[in-house]
Amino acid sequence: MPKLIVQKFGGSSVANVERIQKVARRVVGYKNKGYNIVVVVSALGDTTDELIELAGQITSDPSEREMDMLLSTGEQISVALLAMAIHKLGKEAISFTGGQVGIMTDGNYTKARITRIEADNIREQLKKGRIVIVAGFQGVSSNQDITTLGRGGSDLTAVALATALQANECEIYTDVEGIYTTDPRIEPKARMIKAITFDEMLEMASLGAQVMQPRSIEVAKKFNMPLHVRSSFSQKSGTVILKEVTRMEDALITGITLNRNEAKITVCDVPDRPGGAAKLFKELSLNGVSVDMIVQNVSHTRKTDISFTVAKTNAHKAIKVTKKAAARIGAGDIILDENIARVGVVGIGMKSHPGVAAKMFDTLAQNRINIEMISTSDISISCIIQKKFAEKAVRSLHKNFGLG
Ligand code: ADP
Ligand code: ASP
Ligand code: MG
Repeated sequence: MPKLIVQKFGGSSVANVERIQKVARRVVGYKNKGYNIVVVVSALGDTTDELIELAGQITSDPSEREMDMLLSTGEQISVALLAMAIHKLGKEAISFTGGQVGIMTDGNYTKARITRIEADNIREQLKKGRIVIVAGFQGVSSNQDITTLGRGGSDLTAVALATALQANECEIYTDVEGIYTTDPRIEPKARMIKAITFDEMLEMASLGAQVMQPRSIEVAKKFNMPLHVRSSFSQKSGTVILKEVTRMEDALITGITLNRNEAKITVCDVPDRPGGAAKLFKELSLNGVSVDMIVQNVSHTRKTDISFTVAKTNAHKAIKVTKKAAARIGAGDIILDENIARVGVVGIGMKSHPGVAAKMFDTLAQNRINIEMISTSDISISCIIQKKFAEKAVRSLHKNFGLG
């Protein structure tokens, strides 16, 4: 049996015809080496953002079903063009939508979860010697509606297919050389990391390192599918993401993260009695708004403020729901702040080393950056700060933790 490789190419890797042709040449190169190949592609360049913008010109409150119908078209353009580019190189290739290759999901439009993959169609095509090209980011629900898997969801398509097909390798091609100690577009002194664990990558991705979708790392971890992140513009070897990395001693900090896609909502003067927070957050969850960080101040006055963060794309819905809930629990004003950012430090080493939080807060203080909220996990600490300080915060944390 030839080795099976799943290769995923992100939006910038297929942004125009020349790049699509370049991807085709790379894929054919692997075919010539004897591999069976499944290729997953994202929409061309910024197509998904442009489609969202287009919908926004018609309504601020589009039906989520129709959003999925719209957004899934981006990836369909890419798969067809890549198939043609491979045909031009004299190889057999065939493109499919997510539904056509049996990527079954629940009915949660815009953030659907994969329930199972019926990959017989792919296996048959591979047997015929064809290169199989699959539209990333999409699946089909049990009632035959097209669904999408959340932003960055082509990563998930690739990992899920690699797992279902028991691929020998899963490569994620993107526009940087691999996973860096922080976003190399913010800190040019960032270093590429040769190997990183699923846990560290999951934490970095969840805190905003856009390079991998967090859910794709969850699946890779669950099924122990090593991933190889590398550049579609070079032949360099990139980063492997795997279960365990042998290091003599864990580095204290692996990376610095930044997320500018959150907004902060503060509910003022919440009466300090049991049940207030429960009512507010229940209402948010019933309306499909995920809440991230939550801070409630200790009350000396029998009234308290509750602040929480939500994805910016959900902010207006969250405000609507919060206003209704606040009126019911007798709370006061509601303040929305969209000019925030979350900076984080991630590292397995912090489990056994005290002082990381102190060093982080000290670094922000030295730069006269005020901390508005703090959140911690086993292997990370993150702070909400004003957005205008975000890049300065990332660079100084990167330097002070010795990552440069
Ligand atoms: P693709 O279109 O290939 O899916 P993305 O734009 O989703 O690519 O992700 C790649 C981008 O992630 C990079 O261009 C980089 O700016 C950003 N990024 C953020 N944090 C990191 C990090 N720690 N290492 C590498 N890239 C990062
Ligand atoms: N095109 C989708 C997005 O921009 C999926 C992806 O690129 O992974 O979110
Ligand atoms: Mg991506």
